[in-house]
Amino acid sequence: MRVNLLKGNPDIGLYNLFLPKGCELCRLGGKLVVYITGECGDSCYYCPVSLERFGKDVMYANEAKVTSLIDYIYEAYRMNALGAGITGGDPILALDRVVNLIKMLKEEFGKDFHIHLYTSGRYVTLDVLRELEKVRLDEIRFHPVKEEYLIAVEKALKFNFDVGLEIPSIPGEEEYAEKLIKWAIEKKVKFVNINELELTERNYQKLNAKGFKITHGVAGVKGSFETALKLLRKFEDSKIALHYCSSIYKDIVETRTRFLRIIKYSSKPYENYTGEGTIVRAIVKSKDDLSDYGEKEGDYWSISPDLISSINADEVWLVEEHPDSRRLKVSEKLVYSKSK
Ligand code: SF4
Repeated sequence: MRVNLLKGNPDIGLYNLFLPKGCELCRLGGKLVVYITGECGDSCYYCPVSLERFGKDVMYANEAKVTSLIDYIYEAYRMNALGAGITGGDPILALDRVVNLIKMLKEEFGKDFHIHLYTSGRYVTLDVLRELEKVRLDEIRFHPVKEEYLIAVEKALKFNFDVGLEIPSIPGEEEYAEKLIKWAIEKKVKFVNINELELTERNYQKLNAKGFKITHGVAGVKGSFETALKLLRKFEDSKIALHYCSSIYKDIVETRTRFLRIIKYSSKPYENYTGEGTIVRAIVKSKDDLSDYGEKEGDYWSISPDLISSINADEVWLVEEHPDSRRLKVSEKLVYSKSK
């Protein structure tokens, strides 16, 4: 009888040996997502990066658009981050920015602040690797779109950081994935992450043209999980750490866990929270001074929804928002108005 060596949950992720450190901290909601540039020299048909980001030299800290490196530090404080994952595009195309940011993060939060970086490997030279090692990057993940990019992975293996591969699980393209895993085993790469292929606003036409359809959740492509499972089963008892990450995890669970962490460390006392990682507050118009209950912005007070029955108000709204700096509104409802 075959023993099941896989740990985890198929809806979120499965692994055989251990989770890469970057993924472990992501599961705690502790990784700041650093989108450092949208520029990339490749053009994968399945690329999930959105239209507003891809090919553009833009920066985001988690979901918020930012304009300066210091904004990443503020966002890291807001969530009490344990580390950061630098992504793009291809971050190597903004190498100065990457190097300066790693330096700033390590100086501010200490050497144990774990930083991982994604790249296709296309622009990774020995000089690039030396610069990244000098600022103490912890983990580098290659998405070798083309076999020739593996030269960069081989170079990286000689440096002082963890090296992994990050590959999409594409039904019908198992052969290339198997080849990469075998190569990774032979070269003693630390881990291979296999990502469920996801359908996004930008890639759905190209994926549809190839016959890929959504199977579950918001974006998982039919057959992608099964393809990943076959790869995991085939190599589960080899010495390499394999990890399957679902699209639901990436799109929903990771964000929710991070939001709950932001709430824990930087929400206001008058903000209630939901299990979805959103906050709920009451916005109140009142002639009374409610400074003992909350804070005033313009003509309105923000107070706890639990206190609305104990105040005199002309108008009361209940607002549900994301907890990060953008304060994106999920819903807004007028629950009381004196004039109605
Ligand atoms: S290398 Fe990554 S960012 Fe660039 S096109 Fe491919 S999937 Fe998109």
